[in-house]
Amino acid sequence: MVRCEVMFVIIPRAARYSAFAALFFASFAASTFGWSHDSTPEERDVTAAKFVAQKLQIWQDRMDLKDWNIRVQLVRADQLEPKTLGNIHWDTDSKTATIAVLSTEDYKLPWKAMLDDMEFTVVHELVHLELASLPRSEASRRVEEHAVNEIAGALLKLARHP
Ligand SMILES: [Zn+2]
Repeated sequence: MVRCEVMFVIIPRAARYSAFAALFFASFAASTFGWSHDSTPEERDVTAAKFVAQKLQIWQDRMDLKDWNIRVQLVRADQLEPKTLGNIHWDTDSKTATIAVLSTEDYKLPWKAMLDDMEFTVVHELVHLELASLPRSEASRRVEEHAVNEIAGALLKLARHP
C-alpha cells in the first residue's frame, strides 16, 4: 500500500469549496471522537473530518508550516489514485495546499486505528510539503515516499510515546 500520490498542481476552486464545506459541517460534530456505533456514514465522516482538521492544526504548528493555508478533506476511494490513502496538492506561489484523506466509508480499519492512520496521512503529507521546494524526478519520488513514511512514523511515535 502506497501512502499517497503527491501532486503539485493548483487546487481547483471546487476542491477548495468542498474543504470549506467539510470544515463547516465538522463544527457541528460531537465533541468526542470515541463514538462510532449507531452513527450514519455521514456522521462518521463528519466526526473524522473534525479529528483530522484538529490534527492538521497541531502538526502544522509543530512543523512550522503556519505560513501555509492548508485544508484537509475526506474523499472517497475513487477520488484517489488506486491503493493510496491520501494525497496533497500545493501551490508554492500562493502557499496554499489541500490534503485529501480517505473517507471513513472506504476504510477497513476499526474506528480508533482508522483515526490514527488518518493522522499518519496528515503528517505524511505535511512532510512532503516541507520538501516542496526540492527538485523532483520519477526516481526521486519513490525514494521520497519511503523517506517521508519513515519521518512521519518517527514523528508520530515521539508524539504518542514521548
Ligand atoms: Zn506520499
